[in-house]
Amino acid sequence: MAEITESAVRRVLETVIDPATGKNVVAAGMVSGIATRAGHVAVTLDVDPAQGAALEPLRQACEQAVRAMPDVLSATAVMTSERAAPPPPSPTVRVSGGHAHSHSHAPAAPGAKTTGGQGRIDVPGVKHIIAVASGKGGVGKSTTAVNLALGLAANGISTGLLDADIYGPSMPRMLGVKEKPESADGKMLKPIERYGLKTMSIGYIVAEDTPMIWRGPMVSSALEQMLRDVLWGELDVLVVDMPPGTGDAQLTLAQRVALSGAVIVSTPQDIALIDARKGLAMFRKVAVPVLGIVENMSYFLCPKCGERAEIFGHGGAHEEADKLGVPFLGEIPLHLDIRTTSDSGHPIVVSQPESAHAQAYKNIAGRVWKQLSAPQRGGRPAPKIVMR
Ligand code: ADP
Repeated sequence: MAEITESAVRRVLETVIDPATGKNVVAAGMVSGIATRAGHVAVTLDVDPAQGAALEPLRQACEQAVRAMPDVLSATAVMTSERAAPPPPSPTVRVSGGHAHSHSHAPAAPGAKTTGGQGRIDVPGVKHIIAVASGKGGVGKSTTAVNLALGLAANGISTGLLDADIYGPSMPRMLGVKEKPESADGKMLKPIERYGLKTMSIGYIVAEDTPMIWRGPMVSSALEQMLRDVLWGELDVLVVDMPPGTGDAQLTLAQRVALSGAVIVSTPQDIALIDARKGLAMFRKVAVPVLGIVENMSYFLCPKCGERAEIFGHGGAHEEADKLGVPFLGEIPLHLDIRTTSDSGHPIVVSQPESAHAQAYKNIAGRVWKQLSAPQRGGRPAPKIVMR
């Protein structure tokens, strides 16, 4: 199959005319991003949020034009806005003809105001939504999120897992999911069930390694869709694997989603580098209780000899958690089995349930659940943990 180039897509988009201006979308400067991979094309259109509804036919026209190109398997056009005014046009995850497409529509509520009290995103039927966050990428946030969710499920708690790490969705790989989510009515997506978890990931919809360019407003609206338009059903806990870092997009998520609490994943060296502190500060800013810190890659356990080496100066997170008055949830060693199991679609909590690592995750899950179900919480919101 011939590779689809960005310039070929651009040429096709030059044939799509905005009737309001008479200009094609490229000439009008609306096309802010084109990503192609193995027959999948994603186009971002930068628009004025006030124009969202009016431009929907144009967005569809762009999608159709690209889809009609030879060798294109799927085409997605999303509207986004760099102009900060919230709320952004929200990408809708909609399904047609067995294929899921992520695309956008204008904010539906007539007269919806952009000022102040934007509704918090709540998921009916889900008792607690918790975020798993990290100050930066590569600390094992997703590995922790998956094994924590499986640890909750192993403790008999009905659990869902939402991969909100839309920059680098890892659930398809970590859970070995190859199929696309289905929809019975073309509106609501059915979560994909794996190992007793209900799961959803943007990676189920867009190819995992498609280089997607997401801007802040799109991140939160894509997540909003994955919370609202997925049939999560009744769940005790929905674990949300957040995008790494503590930028505006993450802050918006923390602010908009009705979170019962957050778990911060850190390695011993980040604690020293205060990345994790940034995570704490972010949740504090939006009054989301921090359920605690997990120290990942805490020490090295040699898979051959079982020797334990504290190469990163283990224990930093525990000390830091104590100092900040935040619970310490537990430590996970750096171990080859943790990597190979999660990278092959069989996370350690389910593939080696009797192992010490699985037990460590289950203990962390138990500590998280204890806080969530503590009687004084009365559901949500939880008591605020005060940090100095
Ligand atoms: P993040 O979500 O923070 O970017 P990931 O969970 O994707 O990080 O982990 C990054 C890599 O490190 C993955 O290959 C994962 O398998 C590996 N990894 C994470 N935690 C551990 C651990 N405790 N021991 C060994 N490998 C780990």
